[in-house]
Amino acid sequence: MTAEIINGKDLSTELKLEMKAEVEALKEKGLIPHLTVVLIGNNPASKSYVKGKEKAAAETGISSSIVELPASTTETELLQLIQELNEDTSVHGILVQLPLPEQIREKKVIEAIHPDKDVDGFHPINIGKMMAGEDTFLPCTPYGIITMLKSKNIKIEGKHAVVIGRSNIVGKPVGQLLLNENATVTYCHSRTKNLQELAANADILIAAIGRAHAITADYIKEGAVVIDVGINRLENGSLTGDVDFESAKEKASYITPVPRGVGPMTITMLLKNTIKAAKGLSNIEG
Ligand code: NAD
Repeated sequence: MTAEIINGKDLSTELKLEMKAEVEALKEKGLIPHLTVVLIGNNPASKSYVKGKEKAAAETGISSSIVELPASTTETELLQLIQELNEDTSVHGILVQLPLPEQIREKKVIEAIHPDKDVDGFHPINIGKMMAGEDTFLPCTPYGIITMLKSKNIKIEGKHAVVIGRSNIVGKPVGQLLLNENATVTYCHSRTKNLQELAANADILIAAIGRAHAITADYIKEGAVVIDVGINRLENGSLTGDVDFESAKEKASYITPVPRGVGPMTITMLLKNTIKAAKGLSNIEG
């Protein structure tokens, strides 16, 4: 079997076109969705992620601004800025780019963002709502993964989903969303004893580890759906996933590539969340 590729870049383009039309309609009602991104310090990867978000927002007509702060910014200064953004009625979504300099506690920052403007979906209130299956801002990468599965009408209900990785931003929430869709979910992580055996039992396998090509064909059941979240930079500078794509695609039924897989979907779902925030805060129906 050669797997069908789920191209996140193409799906993102489609979704952004839909969003562009939606934003135009909102503008006619006087609402311009606005995302403010806060970037602290000079981390080149963070700068490039923020640029990507700005570009994608512009493509859909969402207005965005970047607040750049020096690496020496104190926690108090950042919390003060977040407070101002919380109160600013022209700002609908607030995203503080992670990682933060070591003098700033991530938890404090995440908890300071008003849950109604938390377009990253990291606030404990929004995580709680997601767990309860309530309507809320879903964290962007897991939301993107579920959207990719649904775009191909892949059945989730009753399937055995194995998630490798248990971070708060990817592994844990994607498992929860799959559970919300009635999958039977197994979480694996760095202390899991029989990883290969568990993975090879998956109907839907999500790799979110951060180790290039850790998941070879031996970890994949014939016909499984394989979602590769990993973004790893090789010595030659190219990007690659956690899955050994070439061998895996011969066994999987569907597979996501890296690049052009989950990555573009993450930004796209951020834009979806920004529109949702703008509508919610303005009480405007879509
Ligand atoms: P993380 O480092 O916070 O978590 C990695 C997880 O992998 C941990 O839970 C750990 O237990 C598990 N793990 C580590 N070694 C393992 C092993 N040998 N066997 C089994 N499990 C193991 O990383 P993260 O933030 O969840 O990101 C994971 C990967 O996804 C990274 O490559 C990251 O760059 C990428 N990522 C991609 C996107 C995207 O938009 N595509 C978004 C976020 C993260």
